[in-house]
Amino acid sequence: MRINQLPPLFEPARPILATIERAGFEAYFVGGCVRDLILGDPIHDIDIATSAYPEEIKRLFKRTVDTGIEHGTVMILDHGQGYETTTFRTESGYQDYRRPDSVTFVRSLADDLKRRDFTINALAMKEDGEVVDLFDGLGDLDRRLIKAVGDANERFLEDALRMMRAVRFASKLDFTIDPVTLAGIKTHAPLLEKIAVERVQVEFEKLLCGQNPARGLRGMLETGLYRHCPGLSDQQAALEKLATLDWPIASPAAAWTSLVFTLGLDRKAAGAFLKQWKLSNQLIKEVQAANRMVAAIAAGQVDNQLLFETGKAALATALEAARVCRLSFDSAGIQKRYAELAITDAHQLAINGGLLVKEGIVTPGPAMGKVLKRLLLAVVAGEVANDQTALLGAARAIVREEEDK
Ligand code: ATP
Ligand code: MG
Repeated sequence: MRINQLPPLFEPARPILATIERAGFEAYFVGGCVRDLILGDPIHDIDIATSAYPEEIKRLFKRTVDTGIEHGTVMILDHGQGYETTTFRTESGYQDYRRPDSVTFVRSLADDLKRRDFTINALAMKEDGEVVDLFDGLGDLDRRLIKAVGDANERFLEDALRMMRAVRFASKLDFTIDPVTLAGIKTHAPLLEKIAVERVQVEFEKLLCGQNPARGLRGMLETGLYRHCPGLSDQQAALEKLATLDWPIASPAAAWTSLVFTLGLDRKAAGAFLKQWKLSNQLIKEVQAANRMVAAIAAGQVDNQLLFETGKAALATALEAARVCRLSFDSAGIQKRYAELAITDAHQLAINGGLLVKEGIVTPGPAMGKVLKRLLLAVVAGEVANDQTALLGAARAIVREEEDK
């Protein structure tokens, strides 16, 4: 198969391949970019594989960066673009079901393609658009199949993460997993626990954000992979429900929010669950805030204070998650209410502690903080206008009320 018209993203990389070939080496586009090109899907980044060793690549190009030289990866910088170029390699060892003990650079494309996970990811393409397909990856693209390269059992024993990658590609591409590959996952699912959670998380998040997460989730249920994921081992029913949601979803934050909401987790439990998955603190915070809002939407209890505390970003996440979770609610109405809040940030309050002290209403200290907090909530609730005169009056009333207690 030869692709005559390469998309614009490939064009600037063609001279790089040509340079490597002129020097007597082989160079190919490989992996996801070839797969997505043939599928007509959007292409994120271009990977190049070559028979040239890293030192040989560095001699051929003026500007390179050693991004992963021990694995054979050098980034070639060209016209403001970076191209990851990796020397053909084989891997051996895999004594711990994850990373290989050693990688060996080789001169043969076939050896390099053999170590790749699935047939559709083991395609290579020459500079002129000629596709090299040693494992019938093109046939599997046609049949929309995720199929291990070679013996599925061996491949999962080498690297257990590949099982998670199978279900994530099933979701990402909306493909079926080949029955033999699926059986291999069923057999080896417990090995997933040997893999660093961070790596499993990357694949799981991509699964949730794929074209058809229901497919990926059903794959996890059918093979038992979910039993070896953080916090999901006893969540079969919730995951079955998750598979029936109104996917796809717009953002990773909304995906995690839909997950924790479907699991029925409160703020604290959601925090602990997401920590187990090793999400960043910032993402955990956003998901917690969004999850609280989704719960309020479900209960019909959205008020101004919650809108204010949720904030713009988490509110957008919550609305997306609520849609996916098939809640019936007035999204435009909630957005309008948020837009009409008198203030959306505490700094917008038209008064501060200094002024309260200057006016002799309070003295600095905890009492002052308490008054400010009540003023803030009153403004957010629409009970007091956000101007100095109104706020000073309200502050005096609050202090009097406190004194009368
Ligand atoms: P995406 O568009 O989602 O990034 P991708 O195919 O580029 O898809 P990557 O995770 O970026 O996926 O990996 C790039 C390529 O490296 C794959 O297409 C595959 O050939 C190979 N690969 C990646 N991870 C593995 C693995 N664990 N085992 C074998 N081959 C792998
Ligand atoms: Mg990629």
